[in-house]
Amino acid sequence: MTNAETLPMLAIAPAQLLRGQGILSQLAEHLLSLSEQVGKQGGKKALVVSGAAAKSAFEAKLDTSTLEAAEIQLIYAPTIKGCTEASLATLHHAIATHQPDVILGVGGGKVLDTAKLIAYQSKLPIVTIPTTAATCAAWTALSNVYTPAGAFDYDVSLPRCPNMMLVDYDLIATAPQRTLVAGIGDAIAKWYEASVSSGHSDRTLVIAAVQEARILRDILLQKSEEAIQNPQSAVWQEVVDATVCLAGAIGGLGGANCRTVAAHAIHNGLTHLPQAYGTLHGEKVAYGILVQLRLEEFQGNALAATSRQQLLKFYDRIGLPKTLSDLGLKDVTLAELETVAAITCQPNSDIHRMPFEVVPDRVLAAMVSTTCPVGITVQ
Ligand SMILES: [Zn+2]
Repeated sequence: MTNAETLPMLAIAPAQLLRGQGILSQLAEHLLSLSEQVGKQGGKKALVVSGAAAKSAFEAKLDTSTLEAAEIQLIYAPTIKGCTEASLATLHHAIATHQPDVILGVGGGKVLDTAKLIAYQSKLPIVTIPTTAATCAAWTALSNVYTPAGAFDYDVSLPRCPNMMLVDYDLIATAPQRTLVAGIGDAIAKWYEASVSSGHSDRTLVIAAVQEARILRDILLQKSEEAIQNPQSAVWQEVVDATVCLAGAIGGLGGANCRTVAAHAIHNGLTHLPQAYGTLHGEKVAYGILVQLRLEEFQGNALAATSRQQLLKFYDRIGLPKTLSDLGLKDVTLAELETVAAITCQPNSDIHRMPFEVVPDRVLAAMVSTTCPVGITVQ
């Protein structure tokens, strides 16, 4: 056949998703089933890639007797902080030294991104075990790489999602509440970004992804407050599923076209400010949604103004940041904000997927007016 049209490859979901309270105590059983799945006699020697806090929380949930009985060896790589070239070099060395059969990524978004990337580069199966509900990194086939200073550097699209994803709600419950709130901010962005980038698509799978993003938004608007007030309750588990799983599924089904727009571009710009390092990914993204809506309002979009007012009330209820001040940037200078706006508008930025031209001055105006009342316009 000639002139065949090839659509983009999709990495939709982990091959296996296992969830439950205390499920980590069954890790031996699941690693053995993985070794059958990937056709290795191994799965017996697992290299654990984790951050320091995640490592102790993870170890506390394991049943060492079943791991020993199954002759499964867990080797802990040096703990890492971020997904940087230096972390990757450290892990390459650990893999060369220990020759593991499988990588276990245990941690938050940055650690999981590193573990996925190193597993791909080393042609090893990967099991992701999120220790927070702050991002959908345990699900996705994407790794974001940061500079040693913590600024967003570049992302890598991976050919497939993890071989296995293990969600132990008891483990996630050990993380600070703030991480779940940040995860809600990151997940709710799916609707505001996907509806802009792909809301007019006539492709079946993209339509489905955008509608899932709408459902995800509605679930979060309805259930987040109750979930935060009742950790480990049934509704809390549903909100964890929303941020950790459904948000990932939307990215998988929608593919590259359905991913980030201005909210994440603003996040990426903010990562270049050292003062913003103390805030979480989803917190910056949540603020970025408000900036994106302001940009749409500047075009006369009344729906964006209504959405922003709705989100401001929601952010108040659950504690997401609404302003630069809330992000710890009360003393940011105009020059620094101009730098963020310029980085946000670089030619390869996702902000240019907005359906109109976006220039740094507009981004700057939007960044400082996220809470302004409806009806005030910038000409
Ligand atoms: Zn994100």
